[in-house]
Amino acid sequence: MRIIDPVNSIRISDISQISENRIEALFEFPNDEQQRIYIEASKPVQSNADTWLLLALPIGMKFGLPIGIDGEIDSLLLSNLDKLQRECKRGNRSFKRVNVLANGTKTNSQIAGKQTASFFSGGLDSFFTATTEPTVQSLICIWGFDIPLQNIASWNQLNEVAMNFARRREHELVTIKTNLKTLSHGRLLWGRHYHGWALSSVAQALRPNFDSVLIPGTCSTFNAKWGTNEKLNALCSTSWVELREHGAESRVRKMVSINQMDSLTELRVCLKAGFKSLNCGECKKCRRTRLELDGSQSSTRPSGLEEIIDTRIFARERISKFEYTFLKEDQREIARIGTPGFSSLATHLRQGRTRDIICQVLNFMPEKMAHLLLSAKQGFRQKN
Ligand SMILES: [Zn+2]
Repeated sequence: MRIIDPVNSIRISDISQISENRIEALFEFPNDEQQRIYIEASKPVQSNADTWLLLALPIGMKFGLPIGIDGEIDSLLLSNLDKLQRECKRGNRSFKRVNVLANGTKTNSQIAGKQTASFFSGGLDSFFTATTEPTVQSLICIWGFDIPLQNIASWNQLNEVAMNFARRREHELVTIKTNLKTLSHGRLLWGRHYHGWALSSVAQALRPNFDSVLIPGTCSTFNAKWGTNEKLNALCSTSWVELREHGAESRVRKMVSINQMDSLTELRVCLKAGFKSLNCGECKKCRRTRLELDGSQSSTRPSGLEEIIDTRIFARERISKFEYTFLKEDQREIARIGTPGFSSLATHLRQGRTRDIICQVLNFMPEKMAHLLLSAKQGFRQKN
C-alpha cells in the first residue's frame, strides 16, 4: 500500500455538499495556509473527488508533491492518470510525475442522456463553439476566472452579454461563481499551466446536468505548452462527463464562419472595458480583434471595436514573441482569404517584433555590463 507523507504532500479533505448548488473542499499545502475552495452554480452541482483532484494535480506535478484525497476517484480518470501526467509533462519538462492516494474508485453506471454544454466567456472562441456546434444546448459562464470576484460591475456586464446571447441562440445559461483560481496564485501561471484544468474541474462539478462539455479551443495548432489543449482536455474526462476541445481554428476563420450564421454583436474580448462599451478598443487584445474583424470583412462590429485598424500601429509598438504567434496567424489567414488593404501587414508585424527584441537587449545591457565591471574590479583587488 502506498503511503503519502502528510508533511510533504497536498491534502484534500472536507469534501462537502453544502447545498444543491454549492460544493467545497479544503486544500492543504506544505508550509502554507490551508485554502477552502468552493464552486457555486445556478444549476445543481455534485460533490466529488475528481473535481478537486484535477485542480491539485498540476500543482502537485510542478512541486513534486504527491496528493492525498479523502474521496473516491472515477475509474476512467484513475486509469488515465499516467497518460494525463505524461501529457502535462510534454509541455512542462520540469514537472514531476506524482502519486495520488484516494479512498477507492467509483464508476458511473447511469445511462447517458444528459445534455451537452460549452463554456462561454464572451470571447471569440466561445462564440464560435456556441454558434457552430449544433449539439450545444447550454452555456457555462464563470465568475472568478477572467473577472475577479471583487469586480461585481464587470461580472454584471458579462452576465448580461451572456444572457442576451443565450436567449438569441435559444441556449440555457448556467452561471458559476468560484474562488478556485486562488489555488494557482504564486504556484502556476493561469494561461500557461492552469486554465484547462480549472475548466475541466468545473465541468466535473456539473455532472448532474451534463454528460458532455466542450472547451472552446484557443490555438489553431496543437500546443503542448499551453494550459489547455485537445489531449489534456480529453484526458480530464470521467465516466460521468466527457470533455472535448472544440474549434481549434484560426480566429479570422472563426469570424468568417460566425458572420455567415449569426452576428458578433455581444463579442467581449477586453478585460479593461468600462461600463459603457463592451471593449475599450485600444488594448492589445482589442486591436488584434479589430484587425481580425477587418481581415474577415465582418458585417457586425461589436461595441468598442467599430473603428477600422491602421496596421502601421503594429510597427510602432513592441510585439512580444507570444503576441507575434497569434498576429502572424491572423496575417496568414487574411492573406489566404485575400482581403484587400493588408499587403504591408507582415512587414509591420516584423517591425514591431524587431522593436521588442531590441528593447529587450537594451534592458539587458546595463545589468550585463555592471556584472562585467564588478568581475573586473574584484580581479584587480585580488591581484593587489
Ligand atoms: Zn480592450
